[in-house]
Amino acid sequence: CKVLVSGANGYIAVWVVRTLLEKGYSVRGTVRSEEKAVHLRQLFSSYGDKHEVVVVEDITKEGAFDEAVKGVDAIEHTASPFHMNADDPDELIIPAVNGTVGMLKSALKYGQSVKRIVITSSGAAVLRDTTTPFTFSELNWNEQCLEILKEKGRDAPNMMKYRASKTLAEKAAWEFWNKHKASVGWDLTVLNPPYVFGPAINEATAPSGLGTSSKLFYNYVAQPNSSGATNEFLASFGTTWIDVRDLAEAHVISLEKEAAGGERIIVSAGLWKWQDFIDAANTISPPPKLATGGLPKGNPGAGTGHPSTVHFLQYDTSKAARILGLKYRTMAEMTRDTLADYEAKGW
Ligand code: NDP
Repeated sequence: CKVLVSGANGYIAVWVVRTLLEKGYSVRGTVRSEEKAVHLRQLFSSYGDKHEVVVVEDITKEGAFDEAVKGVDAIEHTASPFHMNADDPDELIIPAVNGTVGMLKSALKYGQSVKRIVITSSGAAVLRDTTTPFTFSELNWNEQCLEILKEKGRDAPNMMKYRASKTLAEKAAWEFWNKHKASVGWDLTVLNPPYVFGPAINEATAPSGLGTSSKLFYNYVAQPNSSGATNEFLASFGTTWIDVRDLAEAHVISLEKEAAGGERIIVSAGLWKWQDFIDAANTISPPPKLATGGLPKGNPGAGTGHPSTVHFLQYDTSKAARILGLKYRTMAEMTRDTLADYEAKGW
């Protein structure tokens, strides 16, 4: 069984590739340049022919994935820009939407052997900012970011531009599938994860090379001054999270469960505030030896569970439990393993 993974060098995708290989699948990853294939080839060299990497330079080009989809049984489409420094919203929206629809178009034309396509969407396509606590489910769509983008364009907050790129890409995917489902041999599963944290096996020679979510974790949980954040910020900022290894597992299980076809599925381990991870870090024994000189303290106990702490965003994760039967790593385990990863890298 061969699986195509787009954006295979990304933080989440390398774990998806590893999990697939460990479970016996063959993997064809796509990256944007030969240079980005080097680390992957090295990391998975023991898998021989079962692991290949191909270059797809520009995922927005018509027919970009035409060659890559040939002969694969399933697709995990993870490639999409995830950063908060786009001036022009189209920098995020065009690759997100055209990359996703382009993958589906290529599968329609040349993916005769494809049975399932899993797309990595995001909680960003589900949630909206609220002023009272709200539990979101798969029935919710983030229209708020689209309205803000329409109104403000380039002046919209960067987070809203990112959320719009994920919402528009996911909407386009479902629209495409609804139009073509009668004539294709595959179905669609969409995963909607929240903030993703955990050890990084993608190429990162320094913390600055980490992905957007994992860099935040490093900045707030592994630096004694938490990048200058106030204790109030550390106790109040946070939403929901999942361990990158569990998200990778979810990508693989999504290929295997018949019932996942045609579903968007929120996968989330639970609530967090930065203070929670900091508290978890400070219980590790012996304490991790970090090049940053130590761990932050913040205000211990002031995060989730403190009577004055509010979580505006919660997710109903019953669909993931029912269909995927996913088990989530704990905050203690993720924090320990992430700090051990920094220590091993000499960070
Ligand atoms: P990374 O930035 O580590 O990986 C993103 C991948 O997408 C890389 O392979 C990257 O290639 C590729 N990519 C980015 N922009 C483009 C582009 N314009 N054209 C072609 N390829 C591109 O991010 P993550 O691993 O964190 O994210 C992977 C997916 O998961 C994304 O779809 C993201 O939206 C989603 N997600 C992430 C969450 C998180 O907290 N990390 C939470 C929820 C969803 P290159 O290295 O060449 O730039």
